[in-house]
Amino acid sequence: MSNNKNNNNNNNNKINNRFDLDPERLSTTDVDGHRVYIYPEEVKGKWKSRRFLGYWFLVFLYLILPWIYINGKPSLKIDIFQREFTVLGSTLHGVEPILFFLLLVSGLFFIAFLTSVLGRVWCGWGCPQTVFIQTIFLKIESLIEGKSRERLSLEQQPWNLNKLFKRTLKWGIFFIVSSHIAHTFIGYFVGPKELFFMTMDSPTEHMGIFTATMILTTIFLLDFGWFREQFCIIACPYGRIQSVLMDENSKVVAYDTKRGEPRRGEVGINREAEGDCVNCYSCVKVCPTGIDIRRGTQLECIACTQCIDACDDIMDRLKKPQGLIRYTSEVELRGEAKKRNLRPFLYITLSLIFVSSFFYFLNASTHPELVFLRGVGAPFLVSDNSQETGGESFITNKFTLKIKHQGTHHFLVHLKFADPTLENQIQMQISENPIKLDVPEKKLFIFFKFNRKLLISGSKTVFINVINDEGGHLISQKEVTLVGPVD
Ligand code: SF4
Ligand code: SF4
Repeated sequence: MSNNKNNNNNNNNKINNRFDLDPERLSTTDVDGHRVYIYPEEVKGKWKSRRFLGYWFLVFLYLILPWIYINGKPSLKIDIFQREFTVLGSTLHGVEPILFFLLLVSGLFFIAFLTSVLGRVWCGWGCPQTVFIQTIFLKIESLIEGKSRERLSLEQQPWNLNKLFKRTLKWGIFFIVSSHIAHTFIGYFVGPKELFFMTMDSPTEHMGIFTATMILTTIFLLDFGWFREQFCIIACPYGRIQSVLMDENSKVVAYDTKRGEPRRGEVGINREAEGDCVNCYSCVKVCPTGIDIRRGTQLECIACTQCIDACDDIMDRLKKPQGLIRYTSEVELRGEAKKRNLRPFLYITLSLIFVSSFFYFLNASTHPELVFLRGVGAPFLVSDNSQETGGESFITNKFTLKIKHQGTHHFLVHLKFADPTLENQIQMQISENPIKLDVPEKKLFIFFKFNRKLLISGSKTVFINVINDEGGHLISQKEVTLVGPVD
């Protein structure tokens, strides 16, 4: 009994020490610069219910999306090596890096737009870091180690069988979950079925994929299980730049100083003069980054709204209006009218320009991908001394021409030898020339027939121009090696 009491006192001291932070010091470090682990208390409220609806939807979407097949293809697959992008059953072949660049920049400007209007809404509501920690890792941790105070108490205990058991169980489950998240992530790049069959084989047969999955598992395990809020505070590049994207009109989670101050218990303040803040520290106890929002908007705040729910609960109990901490803007807090601001308009315009360029280039792409694949079986055929050949020896090489073409712009291309003198020396027969590019992928047979004398040491390299019939301009040049017997 007295041990429990001592433990509780220690915990209270530890928490209270955290409340007395030097404003110049990070909320998660002690005076010596060592990390102070945060064990945020559970909170209930309308904002939590809304957030968790969104979180579970995102987790479900992430885990299930690659397994939904449309037209026999995963609903989302990014095949980097084949340069193929599959979305909702349609595949774009030969996707050029410029298209990915345009999409990426458009996405970045869209996030900048969201930030300038809604503050760090991405951090609190959509970032995988927050979503996985809140929905899965913290839940597992509290199921095994108990509530906030019990977890803090366990941390302070010396190693014993109970602590060893709980920590081993927790990290074991963390590993399984991280591995599943990592496998799903890799599934977006190689395909979920393909990945499933790979996992049935020995790791040595797919060493690259195995290594990538293990590295990702380790990153997720350490980040979601241990590093947590430190990533948001000191490592996340978006966290660093968000303050320059926001202004006094942006929505932030903020404490209403006018209404809350002076707080209860402040020296020299009588009861009547007190504001609504009762100095209960509930808002600090639930904060996953360990900050006191009453000190103003801080870089560490990820806009998770936990402090809003905690404070609303206190206000309900005190029969005071909710919203001492709320989503608002600095302008609103000062009681001023919203100022005209061109910044969000600029960000969304740039985002729309880049995404429109993406679709324009996608549809207007005139760069089909042509691959010459040598036919299976004998690499060449020799027609010797027949009447048809006039006593000459002729060689035939057969190829399959694989063509990939993205976009909806249909046009014709034709193939021509780069060296015009070869036109009379090599007969190029192709089942379709000019070739109509009206489907994403097609295969044609192509034969080259030529006099054996053309070969040098059994081979001859030729270059074939791929020419756009519309403008007559060169699209690409292909190198083909013709082979025959070595004399
Ligand atoms: S939860 Fe509300 S009342 Fe309690 S300390 Fe925070 S702001 Fe003040
Ligand atoms: S201050 Fe509030 S909104 Fe910001 S991180 Fe802490 S709990 Fe979340």
